[in-house]
Amino acid sequence: MNIFFDVDDTIISWDVRLRPGVDEIFQQLREDGHTLYLWSGYGPRWEVVRRFDLHEHIIDCFWKPLHNHHARLDELKVPFVPDYTVDDHVEIIQAFGGSLIKPAPMRLERDREMWRVYDEIRAFASKPGAGE
Ligand SMILES: [Mg+2]
Repeated sequence: MNIFFDVDDTIISWDVRLRPGVDEIFQQLREDGHTLYLWSGYGPRWEVVRRFDLHEHIIDCFWKPLHNHHARLDELKVPFVPDYTVDDHVEIIQAFGGSLIKPAPMRLERDREMWRVYDEIRAFASKPGAGE
């Protein structure tokens, strides 16, 4: 599947730390055959890819539509509809499907959300017809 991850409060914390499990889960998802993208309402976030050395995992970065989600994909030059999204905003999940992630807790070491999301992705991907 083409999986689109939001950036703020999804893969990084409010104080710009990479959340626990991101590198491990990105690696695992790639081994499972998925292709990973970042998108953000603030635009393509290559600075996050660089800062946390995510180049080997992330194929491309895009603008994320914050309203008229499907209609604006062309305008924002998103080349296809995501098969699965991970986001802390429910509107994105409602528009494209995927996993709602809770923002990281203050004590980042307690954050297990990325592993929970991975389990949801696996469950979804194992359903007949997922991502086709
Ligand atoms: Mg966010």
